[in-house]
Amino acid sequence: MIKKIDHIGIAVSSLEKILPFYIDIIQLELLHIEEVESEGVRIAFIAAGETKIELIEPINEESAVARYIRKFGEGMHHIAFAVDSIEKRIEDINAKGIRMLNSQPKSGAGGAAVAFMHPHSTGRVLVELCERKE
Ligand code: ZN
Repeated sequence: MIKKIDHIGIAVSSLEKILPFYIDIIQLELLHIEEVESEGVRIAFIAAGETKIELIEPINEESAVARYIRKFGEGMHHIAFAVDSIEKRIEDINAKGIRMLNSQPKSGAGGAAVAFMHPHSTGRVLVELCERKE
């Protein structure tokens, strides 16, 4: 069902401040930066082999990530697993009694279809399913 870890999401208050750590110090490659206005975030994707690091910076105080940082501080936010047929995966997971935050996939950064599981159902880890059209 799960193909690999697609990316690890990290909440940051400033991309500008943290990017030199990933790019200059540990020398990972910056793939691209994009704004997802519907989520109120700016995202930098960094390659770490096949897995990506997704640095998520809020661009307004109302975004879910801004609320997250106020509550928990910066740091690890979610883990995203790559899947095929995301609608079918959501159905399977619902059928197994796991609560989804998104009952339908929504469009995420990089044009991926994504859906999150409720952390109360996953040992308090925010888990994202992510389907990318190759
Ligand atoms: Zn993500």
